[in-house]
Amino acid sequence: MKICFLVELPYGKIQWADGLDGAMQILEKDHEVCYHLDGLRHGHKPDLLMCWGGTLSKTYLEGMDYSGEKALFFAGGSRNNLEELRQWDIIYFENEIHTIEAQKMGLANCMTAFGTNTQIFYPMKQPKMFDVIYPGAFGLWKRKDLFAQAVKGLKALSLGNIQHHEMQCWDVCVENGVAVAMDIPQWQ
Ligand SMILES: [Zn+2]
Repeated sequence: MKICFLVELPYGKIQWADGLDGAMQILEKDHEVCYHLDGLRHGHKPDLLMCWGGTLSKTYLEGMDYSGEKALFFAGGSRNNLEELRQWDIIYFENEIHTIEAQKMGLANCMTAFGTNTQIFYPMKQPKMFDVIYPGAFGLWKRKDLFAQAVKGLKALSLGNIQHHEMQCWDVCVENGVAVAMDIPQWQ
């Protein structure tokens, strides 16, 4: 099967080494996969178009525009527009909560996916430096303010992509004694 995978990764695949990446490597053993890191299909007509993005992303719109078989890796946005979501042949949610909610609302074409890339994330014998780590973009929807309050008194680290228009997410961590770091490559 020919698969096109659409996602917007402006800095390339170095930004991407999670469970989904691990799953795609397994799919690549039996299928021909090409990656479009600008979120655009460029006229390709695959047997299956896989799109990973939020409902406001370029990737999502590009997938909605495709008349062939298509799968959505749901990365955020409204889950209320059932008629629109039914246009996807399958939708993969990141967790059981979203899947069960969507199924209760009457969305049949969905299941839970995503996971952990155990080639990268595994128990290591090394000194524990932090009590708690929160990976996730410094964007308002990640609720870094709640995290900063919840971990008071602990050795905490927050890291992720910096959203320069929402620096208050970074600031609230610093103000509450949470160590901060920007997005770091997941390999090496
Ligand atoms: Zn392609």
